[in-house]
Amino acid sequence: MDTKYEAVIGLEVHAQLSTDTKIFCGCSTKFGAPPNTNVCPVCLGHPGVLPVLNKKVVEYTVLMGLATDCTIKERSIFARKNYFYPDLPKGYQTSQYEEPICEHGKVTIEFKDGSKKEIGVTRIHMEEDAGKSIHDYGDTTLIDANRCGTPLMEIVSEPDMRSAEEAYLYLTKLKQILTYLEICDGNMEEGSLRCDANVSIRLKGETKLGTKAEVKNMNSFRNVERAITREIERQTELLEDGKQIIQQTLLWNSDLNDVFPMRSKEEAHDYRYFPDPDLMPVVVDVQWKNKIAGSLPELPVARRDRFIADYNLPLYDAEVLTSSKELADYYEKILSVTNDYKSASNWVMTEVLKVMNDEKISITDFPVAPENLGKLIKLINDKTISGKIAKDIFPEMLKTNKDPDEIVKEKNLVQISDTSEIESAVEKIIAANQKDVHEYLSGKEKVLGFLVGQIMKETKGKANPQIVNELLKKKLSEQKN
Ligand code: ADP
Ligand code: MG
Ligand code: ZN
Repeated sequence: MDTKYEAVIGLEVHAQLSTDTKIFCGCSTKFGAPPNTNVCPVCLGHPGVLPVLNKKVVEYTVLMGLATDCTIKERSIFARKNYFYPDLPKGYQTSQYEEPICEHGKVTIEFKDGSKKEIGVTRIHMEEDAGKSIHDYGDTTLIDANRCGTPLMEIVSEPDMRSAEEAYLYLTKLKQILTYLEICDGNMEEGSLRCDANVSIRLKGETKLGTKAEVKNMNSFRNVERAITREIERQTELLEDGKQIIQQTLLWNSDLNDVFPMRSKEEAHDYRYFPDPDLMPVVVDVQWKNKIAGSLPELPVARRDRFIADYNLPLYDAEVLTSSKELADYYEKILSVTNDYKSASNWVMTEVLKVMNDEKISITDFPVAPENLGKLIKLINDKTISGKIAKDIFPEMLKTNKDPDEIVKEKNLVQISDTSEIESAVEKIIAANQKDVHEYLSGKEKVLGFLVGQIMKETKGKANPQIVNELLKKKLSEQKN
C-alpha cells in the first residue's frame, strides 16, 4: 500500500449460535432438513403470533460478552428492523439496536513476533437470521424459510484494525473463543460465521475517519484478508486519481479477486427501527450473570499459559496445541497415559497434524484414539520399541486404531536389547563392509552412520540403536588395535 495512507478496518461478524431451537419459537435449527419443514406461524410471521425468547440465546451471548470483556447490560431491548425481501416473511428482522446486551469489550490479537494489540468490541447483540432465496432452480426463485429465526449473535468491532493481517488475526481469535465456548461451530465455509468488512483509508496522521465501503460475501478467513487487501488498493487508486470514495456495499468475487458494487448503502433511518412491542426487555440480573460467568470454560489464552506452566512446553507448541479446544483436549487425553509432555506434543504437532492436513479431517475425526497414541509413546520410552519402529506402527494404527501393544506383539516388533544378538549382527556387518570400516578408521567419521543403518536393516529395525552404537564403536576400536 502507498505509504502516504493508512487503512482503517472494522468488522461486523455474525455468528450462528448452536442452539437446538430457534430464537423465538420451538422450531429445530437442524441444517439440511427438507425446505420449509422447520417452520411454524411464529418464525413465518403470521399475524397475531407472539414470540418467546430462547433463554439459551441470552446465555450464549452473555458468555461471549464475558469472554470479550464486555459490559453486560442488565436491561436490553429487541427492535424491529423493517425491510422488504422475499426471504423475510415477517417484513422485519428482530434484532437489538439502540440497547444491545453487551458493550465496550475487547479482543487481544497477537502477531507472529509476539507483540499484541487490543481491538475494541463496540457491541454484541442478539438477532434472528432470514430465510434463503434459491436462484439456481430454472427461471424461478424459490424460498426456503427453514433458516428464518435461526439465532445469531452480531459482534461489531471498533474501527481499530489497520491492515488485512490484523483483521485476519482478529477473526481467528473470535473463532477460537466461540469454539472454546462451544456456542458456534465457527465454520465460515458453511456460513455459521459470516464477516462483513468495513474499510476506509486516510492520510497518515489524519484523525478523522474516511468514507468507508462495506465488503461482503467472503466465505473463508483467507478471502476476508484478500478482499480487504484489494479494497484498500482500490480506494488508494481512487484517491491517487483525485476521485472520491463513495459509501457503498461491495461484493467480493474470489474468482476475479476483486470487489463489485452491490447497492448504495441504506442509512439506519431507512429501516424505521422501533422497539418490538411483542417482546419484553431482556433482563439479566446479577444473579443470572454470575451463574453464566460460573459456567465460563477455560479460555484459549489461559489454557495456552497453563500448558506452558504445567507441561513445560515452548510457547510455540502451546499455541499450536491450544489453537482449537478439540486439539487441546486430544493432547491432554494423551497425557492420561504418559507424562512425557514434550513427546506427546511432538507427535501431535508432526504426525497428527500432518495426517489431518493431508486427509483434510478435523481432530474429532482423527482415527487414532489419543490413549493409544499415549501407549505408543510409552512403548518407546520404556524401550520396548525404537522410535523408528514406532513410526512404522503409527500408519497401522491410523488404519485400524488398534492398541499399539497388540500390534507390537502380533508383528513381533519388540526391540532387541539382547547384547549377544546385536553383537552378532554388528560382527556380520563389519565383516561384510571392510572397505567402509577402513575409511572410518582412517578418519571418515560419517561412515559410522552408514554402518549403523546396515545393522538396523539386518535386525529389521528392531535393534536398540543405543546398544548398536556402543557395540559398533567398541568393535571398530578393537579392529584398530
Ligand atoms: P453502519 O451504520 O454503516 O453499519 P456502523 O457505525 O454501525 O456503520 O459501523 C459498522 C462497522 O464499520 C463497525 O465495525 C465500525 O467499526 C466500522 N466503521 C465505521 N466507520 C468506519 C470507517 N470510516 N472506516 C472503517 N470502518 C468503519
Ligand atoms: Mg451497522
Ligand atoms: Zn418456528
